[in-house]
Amino acid sequence: MHIDYGPGYRIYYKDTFTAIEIKPIWRYFFYMKILSGIAAVPGIAIGKAFLYSEDLETPRYIIPQEQSTEEMKRFIRAVEEVSAELRILREKAKTREQDGIFAAHQLMVEDQDFHYKVKARFETNYENIEWVVSEVARELSRKLIESPNEYLRERTADVVDVSRRIIRNLLGIKRFSLADLQEEVILVARDLLPSEVLAFNKDKVKALLLDAGSRTNHAAILLRSFGIPGVFGLSSVTREITNGSLIIVDGGTGQVFIEPDNETTRRYKEQLANQEQSAVNLSVLKDFPAATTDSRRVSLVANIELPEEAEEIARYGAEGIGLYRSEFLFLQNGRNSEEEQLEAYSRVVKAMNGKPVTIRTVDLGGEKALPAIANENEKNPLMGWRAIRFSLSLPDLFKTQLRAILRASIHGKVQIMFPMISNIEELEQALFLLEEARMECRKKNQGFADDIKIGTMIEIPSAVMTADILAKKSDFFSIGTNDLIQYTLAVDQENERVRHLAKGTQIAVLRLIKQTIDAAHAAGIHAAMCGEMAGDPAAAALLLGLGLDEFSMNASAIPQVKHIIRNVSIESCKALAESALTSTSHKQVQELIRDWYSKHLPSLTLASDMILETQAQT
Ligand code: PEP
Ligand code: MG
Repeated sequence: MHIDYGPGYRIYYKDTFTAIEIKPIWRYFFYMKILSGIAAVPGIAIGKAFLYSEDLETPRYIIPQEQSTEEMKRFIRAVEEVSAELRILREKAKTREQDGIFAAHQLMVEDQDFHYKVKARFETNYENIEWVVSEVARELSRKLIESPNEYLRERTADVVDVSRRIIRNLLGIKRFSLADLQEEVILVARDLLPSEVLAFNKDKVKALLLDAGSRTNHAAILLRSFGIPGVFGLSSVTREITNGSLIIVDGGTGQVFIEPDNETTRRYKEQLANQEQSAVNLSVLKDFPAATTDSRRVSLVANIELPEEAEEIARYGAEGIGLYRSEFLFLQNGRNSEEEQLEAYSRVVKAMNGKPVTIRTVDLGGEKALPAIANENEKNPLMGWRAIRFSLSLPDLFKTQLRAILRASIHGKVQIMFPMISNIEELEQALFLLEEARMECRKKNQGFADDIKIGTMIEIPSAVMTADILAKKSDFFSIGTNDLIQYTLAVDQENERVRHLAKGTQIAVLRLIKQTIDAAHAAGIHAAMCGEMAGDPAAAALLLGLGLDEFSMNASAIPQVKHIIRNVSIESCKALAESALTSTSHKQVQELIRDWYSKHLPSLTLASDMILETQAQT
């Protein structure tokens, strides 16, 4: 019998597990549906579905000459309506800052120069006015973001916001903001940008289900830091679920139950209660060192995306921050003056009370593009203008960030790390600009620590191959497996047909990790890992055996990884690593890992689809 409701879709008749074919319209009345996807963020949630769609795709078409006057009138009408909308928002503004933002937006909407540019562009090609507005806004944003003037750079976010308001008005789309969610829901969407995840109301979203996505994309990473379960890569969840359906989400297995039966609901309610209990049990480890039974000590530190997380991570026993993804500050509100950055970084450094804080300079671009450049037609954004390449091409923006980090260093122990270094020249240029930033601070009598360590992220195979050269100019390495795996294996993890190939247990990946660690040790510097693999319990023993010194992960994963480390010997981990390195296929490595855990830690349940195949592939 064939049921064609999309990949991963199964249908059960009550609890008898008999699959039958029925017309879609009846499915909603009688059956519990089970979808399986990528177990992106573990955890269980039960609640009502909320379907969200915020596609602001701007159409593009030609306007016949005889309708051109009417098209310009549409623009004027939209401008008037948006201006009135902003006036009301100003009246409702609760703070002077909010009022200031809406006032600036109103000025922009009414700006004659902007109107003139729209008119001039319209009269060149006679394309629909929504398209013209989006193009004019993009041009303006590009100019602003490249400006050496900090005030002008900050206006980029405003231009994007204002143009979106006008386009929405022209398209008749009512704005619904995820920040306005009033009830607790399970959010269901086709895909969400990291900036949209940042914007939603964290208290109201119990879980997130996406048609698209992968375990290592940044929506997943953010969810993990908010402790919100997620199942991604469900392909058709937005079609399968109706608003208000009752849903159970199991982020650990990647299963989603739609209109669950009583038995399933009872079982999951029980698990939900146990989940809370085991979180409490593991946190008792927080003050114990991460040392193996034969005294190999490593450090377990946290990845954070937002400054406020720094205040939370101590309860999991984080010994510092191994990766602060500073780009989220830029994505969150587009405001990034030196003083605003200084405030955010200082908050993190102070919260860590002398423990190391590794601030990674912005990794913007790719899926984390600033709205101002998001629509740029890059054919391969992940191999394009992102991370250190972006920063080096905008030295004023980069130095503003470096000065803010330097100045925050007086509050504790700061380390600076550069993302996506692919060759020594990039590292040297970054260090040169850092030196300039230091000089600029000195000129203004702004103090900074003189013992700031500099780290290089190793996330491109070329960086591994030249690790001995990069090590000479670095105080530490941090391996970014999320990128390293995709670049080594040429796998787009968003692509459901190939993402199952992206495994840290692939021999090539293991060799690159080993080579990086060895190059670091040969140069007398330490080797950290801050990709998602570092927080995968199934990878812990292998990474210990390969010689990793520091594991940086979402803080909530620390207790389990620490539990593993404290119950194994480094000798047995080394033996595992040696066997893995002499294996000839990743399947063989996966078998080795499974056997090793069942011998050394038989009570441990391994839920990992990063390196093992414990999840159903969709
Ligand atoms: C990585 O690539 O593993 C990493 C930590 O960087 P990001 O996920 O932010 O790209
Ligand atoms: Mg990366």
